[in-house]
Amino acid sequence: MVIGVLALQGSFNEHIAALRRIGVKGSEIRKPEQLECLNALIIPGGESTTMAKLAEYHNLFPALREFVRAGKPVWGTCAGLIFLANKAVGQKSGGQELIGGLDCVVHRNFFGSQLQSFEIELSVPKLADNEGGTDICRGVFIRAPGILEAGPDVEVLADCPVPSDNAGPVIPGGEDLEDKILFQDRVIVAVRQGNLLGTAFHPELTSDTRWHSFFLKMVKETDEKTLQCISTSERPMENFHEKKPYDLPIFE
Ligand code: GLN
Repeated sequence: MVIGVLALQGSFNEHIAALRRIGVKGSEIRKPEQLECLNALIIPGGESTTMAKLAEYHNLFPALREFVRAGKPVWGTCAGLIFLANKAVGQKSGGQELIGGLDCVVHRNFFGSQLQSFEIELSVPKLADNEGGTDICRGVFIRAPGILEAGPDVEVLADCPVPSDNAGPVIPGGEDLEDKILFQDRVIVAVRQGNLLGTAFHPELTSDTRWHSFFLKMVKETDEKTLQCISTSERPMENFHEKKPYDLPIFE
């Protein structure tokens, strides 16, 4: 199994190291053709505007969108989550290109600037159910995004209290959203929608590898489904033998 890690910038090395700790090879991905032989992809944290510019420069967007559309598992952490969202707000002027697929509205810097970065214990019952251990995991939030809205097919895995000094994000042209957020005391920070996983924080910066194992299970589930699909659509061997062989030309 090969898990790709988008290696344009950001914490791709840390993801590869976390994968190594659970015995899986992570491969650095920088070109569209490298996506073809992957089982799954991780998009790391970093700076989503810069990442988007680099992805555009390397002509990666069509291949990334096709990867998501084909149902291959993709996990976006922090900037990677922003990249996967159908809609992002709080972007730099001119906006930025997104891969999309994850039916969420994400605020790029929900928790404020780099100085407002923090760590907190998150309760994630699904992580404990699937991977064992306690349902508490350490959330490292670095200039982190928050998920403002999640569609009906999106499973919320974790939310987090909004810090009391968070005056509410400024969303140009999105005053209705701003009002809604202002009265929210918790914000969604981890979601799953089918083949897509998104976390606003950085599990790759902690020693808890359960998020990586969780993603690996998603990959295995998808691979099993693909195998089942192939085997049920295959012609049974008996029919194969009944069929008259083609008359192939013989060259001497
Ligand atoms: N808020 C950052 C962005 O816009 C993401 C920060 C991170 O990935 N740690 O890209």
